[in-house]
Amino acid sequence: MAKPQHATLESICNTIASYYPEAKLDLVKKAYAFADEAHRGQLRSSGEPYMIHPADVAQTLADLRLDLSSIVTGLLHDTVEDTHATLEQIEKEFGKDIAELVDGVTKLSQIAFKTSEEKQAENFRKMILAMAKDIRVILVKLSDRLNNMRTLEHLAPAKQQAIAQETLDIYAPIANRLGIGWLKMELEDLCLRYLHPDIYYKLRTQVAKTKKEREKYIDDVSQILLEELEKYDVRAQVVGRAKHFYSIYKKMDRRSSDFDQIFDLIAFRIIVDNITECYKALGVIHAVYKPVPGRFKDYIAIPKANGYQSLHTTVIGPNGERIEIQIRTQEMNQVAQGGIAAHWKYKEGRFDSRANENVAWVNRLLEWHKDLSDPNEFLETVKIDLFAEDVFVFTPTGEVKQLSHGATPLDFAYAVHTDVGNKCVGAKLNGKIVPLKHRLKSGDTVEIITSPTQTPSKDWLKIVKSSRAKAKIRAYIKTQERERADTLGREILDKALRPYSLTLAKMEKGSELLKAANTLRVKGLEELFILVGYGRITMDTLIPLLIPKEALERKIESAKAEDESFLKRVFKAAAKRSESKNAIKVAELEDVLIRFGRCCNPLPGDSIIGFITRGRGVTVHTATCTKALDNDPERRVDVRWNVADKGSIKRHVKIKVLSLDQPGLLALMSQTISSCGVNIASANIRTTKDKKAIAQFDVEVGDLTQLQKIVSALESKKGVITVERIRS
Ligand code: MN
Repeated sequence: MAKPQHATLESICNTIASYYPEAKLDLVKKAYAFADEAHRGQLRSSGEPYMIHPADVAQTLADLRLDLSSIVTGLLHDTVEDTHATLEQIEKEFGKDIAELVDGVTKLSQIAFKTSEEKQAENFRKMILAMAKDIRVILVKLSDRLNNMRTLEHLAPAKQQAIAQETLDIYAPIANRLGIGWLKMELEDLCLRYLHPDIYYKLRTQVAKTKKEREKYIDDVSQILLEELEKYDVRAQVVGRAKHFYSIYKKMDRRSSDFDQIFDLIAFRIIVDNITECYKALGVIHAVYKPVPGRFKDYIAIPKANGYQSLHTTVIGPNGERIEIQIRTQEMNQVAQGGIAAHWKYKEGRFDSRANENVAWVNRLLEWHKDLSDPNEFLETVKIDLFAEDVFVFTPTGEVKQLSHGATPLDFAYAVHTDVGNKCVGAKLNGKIVPLKHRLKSGDTVEIITSPTQTPSKDWLKIVKSSRAKAKIRAYIKTQERERADTLGREILDKALRPYSLTLAKMEKGSELLKAANTLRVKGLEELFILVGYGRITMDTLIPLLIPKEALERKIESAKAEDESFLKRVFKAAAKRSESKNAIKVAELEDVLIRFGRCCNPLPGDSIIGFITRGRGVTVHTATCTKALDNDPERRVDVRWNVADKGSIKRHVKIKVLSLDQPGLLALMSQTISSCGVNIASANIRTTKDKKAIAQFDVEVGDLTQLQKIVSALESKKGVITVERIRS
């Protein structure tokens, strides 16, 4: 749709009048004069007057059949940023609607892309927000970008590439998502020209060179197709056209081959009157030519996410070559060209865009935006949605759900309803139970099994593909974590207040808590409890803000005495029962009862943490033990291995050895362990169906080094497959 000449006020007005005869063109004329005056004396990089740029942008918007406000915004879009004109002036002259659009475009233009990943994420987010607010802002920006890409040759090469890359990464996918086919294709071709000039010019030369041949080929095939269709009374129009360069390039890239045949460059389009005729035409084509398996797509029954409808097929054509054919109605053809704009209907002189799927998509993005506070998560979410191909599956009642490529039953469950997703325990695919991570294929019928006790887990994030499901799971986990932190935070604070004869309930009636929150720059009490729960605000910080100084000092004195007697009671009484009383040093205390967590069974050499258990001394876990992390962080104490007493420590550890089932193996393994100077407390062995043996030893070792010695000694024996330490 490239215009050979620059747009003029006249050409813009003519285009508008062609689809909107009652339009009040005075406003367009006024905007043109305003912009012309504002940009007077400015030149483009090409040396031409600046005004040709906004005029071309406005022309593109008129070609898209947009409303007057959009076109006027196209004319004014650079005035606030680049001239002395102000937003107030624009609002006064053109009204609030247009002033807001111009402001949106100006703000969007000030976003510098191509910086760090995080910044890019944030920028992308702003863009989506602008889009959600008024999609016309993006349409003006897209037209602006198209015009800039068309005139990119006047810029320095480094700048050309940066702009082209950004266009390929962001603007072309958005044009595609909004269903504006021609705009997406032109942007992509222009990007190819600046990003891979060698390939672009090679393709262009080859296409030009074969022009005559190609035209003849198109004529011949079109004629044959028309004749075949006529035989069956299908009235149709057949057009053949060269595919756009970027799609040829991508095909070459995928197959890593050169193109050498003309028919690889061409696609045919059959345009008929109505949907019935589409299928009739398809029937004729498939009856006459052999279809290539796996290439037929029915985008009429199930349109693409951007609203695109068509039948696609590839057949072995009249001369034995593959022909790509698209069959669609005139109306579908218009939608394929204009996308979002073609859907828009006039309603009292304005476009009514409410019924449009693409607007629904933008609104959905806005909804996720609320759920996701991390810009990178948001970027990931949006990227998935912009680039994903779609899968279409059915509910048991026959309703169609559209999901991203690679979607799982869990994605489907979330597409049905957030609650169905959250409670999902399993799925039936075409009547058979499948795992939750199963990948859905188009045409599958999916039934979700739910349980009222089910809740989402972090692992689900690895299973789901769709941005909606990801956003919902993350939101759920976050809420759960915050709720847990809130409860824990309240408990911790309540306990810490007890020694001052206070309770949290009492405290909440006064204003001290809010004051403390203000001092700590925390928004509200709930947030304060949550931060306490997460351990980000400790009692050492918070208590002094809540308790008067004198009370605090009095308490410190009595606390010392109390603490001592508490610890003495706990530790002294239990000292005799200690498993390994000298193996561990707890802070600087003596005679502490030590227990080792059965969950992780730490060995000297493991890094460890301890928790005070009321009345039972200190339980020691490995630093990585997940059970340990369930403990109250307030009860945590520093522990370390008592190195001085090393020789006296003996700890029981279980080792599992998987080996081939060979005679004498148990004896050999026992010998190996004994030769490391280690006692075996017990041993047992069992064999598996596939001729393997699993031996389990309970050994007494002094530390990690000794254990590792045994493990590697065992591993070096012939027939041994794996050796592992088992915890619990
Ligand atoms: Mn511009």
